[in-house]
Amino acid sequence: MVNMLTIAEAHKKLRAGDLTSTDLVQACIDQIETHDEKINAVVHKNFDQALETAKKIDTTGNFDSPLTGIPYLTKDNYCEKDIPSTACSNILRNPDYIPPFSSTTNKRLEDAGAISLAKANTDEFTMGSSTETSCFGTTKNPWDISRVAGGSSGGSTGGLAAGFSTFALGTDTCGSIRLPAAYCNLSGMRVTYGRTSRYGVMSMASSLDTIGPIARSVEDTAIILQAISGHDPLDATTSKNAVPDYSKALTGDVNGLKIGIPKEYVIEGLDQEIASAVNEAADVLKEQGAEIVDISLPHTKYSIAVYYVICPSEVSSNMARYDGIRYGHTESDPESLVDYYERVRSEGFGDEVKRRIMIGTYALSAGYYDAYYRKAQKVRTLIKRDFDEAFQQVDCILAPSTPTPAFKVGAHSGDPVAMYLEDIFMAAQPLAGIPALALPCGFTGEGLPIGFQLIGPQWGEEVLLRAGDAYQRVTDHHTKTTSL
Ligand code: GLN
Repeated sequence: MVNMLTIAEAHKKLRAGDLTSTDLVQACIDQIETHDEKINAVVHKNFDQALETAKKIDTTGNFDSPLTGIPYLTKDNYCEKDIPSTACSNILRNPDYIPPFSSTTNKRLEDAGAISLAKANTDEFTMGSSTETSCFGTTKNPWDISRVAGGSSGGSTGGLAAGFSTFALGTDTCGSIRLPAAYCNLSGMRVTYGRTSRYGVMSMASSLDTIGPIARSVEDTAIILQAISGHDPLDATTSKNAVPDYSKALTGDVNGLKIGIPKEYVIEGLDQEIASAVNEAADVLKEQGAEIVDISLPHTKYSIAVYYVICPSEVSSNMARYDGIRYGHTESDPESLVDYYERVRSEGFGDEVKRRIMIGTYALSAGYYDAYYRKAQKVRTLIKRDFDEAFQQVDCILAPSTPTPAFKVGAHSGDPVAMYLEDIFMAAQPLAGIPALALPCGFTGEGLPIGFQLIGPQWGEEVLLRAGDAYQRVTDHHTKTTSL
């Protein structure tokens, strides 16, 4: 099935004339039309335009760039010109918000010849780990549809795992690329803060948000990263650091690479099958010549608590712009301006968003700012220092992605803290602003995907791609697919 090819494989076929972009796009559309009913990954379709673009590309016959003619899914918190972009929140629906501009990332991909096929489901404004807070309902995991595809980029991962596209875009504020990638047997990168532009992507927690690729292999991850990285005058937080040639990092050679294993990531509650699959992944890299070093990141244990103070604080500020006047949801016959705001925001936002606005407003209020927000920022610095020290000793760090495999739909819905704990391995890296690459490393006895992550220093994307790609050259977990 052509819709299950990697970017690299599809590119080869397109270039050789063995496949047309139109056929590839059509195969993905057919797959969505036949199977999305079961998993609910797609929330807005852009099929006509995608087919039109594919046809145009086919007429040129020029497939020099690795992304030309390749279809992808975009998480619904990205703005795309003339396409509904709603962050899966009722506050941006009825009428749907239709942006007059596209995100820098969508534009860069368009310039590279990639084809945006559809918008993918996400937790509301990306707040969640299971896509269950989306106003469109939960995305199911194609590996077992009684389970979640993860979140918040669950539509992107669920859709990609189901063969709805050749790659997908996600955002990772605290694991939203890596966690669902682990649940769906995919590879994905959280980049260094400032590596990719956030312009045109709806903010959740601005000091933590990053946008990044989700793919079927590390090689594909590098291809997408190449196209979307780099300084953007429209996002002042993007770095002017030159973008390396990521394909050059894919040498297959990890000889002498020092990989740290942090003892703090072996926690109570870590699923045994995950623990052994992750240990095996470390053994594979060791056999390939890497040196495994025990390290300690002592402040890791505070990262969830710190994240769930800083994130809601930034959420409470970012959500203030949704007032029902400039975008989306409106109310008729208000008694006053306050009554209008109250009704728009009460009806437009879901429970999780409201919970975070309340927690964040509280943590930022004059009486509590020092006790919560300022203290959290101080501990954030300690967490970052742990990594700075660790990277004096090692080139990268290896850890599990999630404590459990994909859980059943509804398993955590009454218990926000249980849901927050799914992010236990995901919070320290965003707080430190560093990159991490998630990739598959096996399956549970029940056949559910297991993932691990390689964590790198700031601007350390290359070392992660090098190690991850070397690992995938000698393992085949990432090549396993499922059918619906
Ligand atoms: N689970 C995290 C949260 O709910 C995910 C955030 C993200 O990466 N978008 O905040």
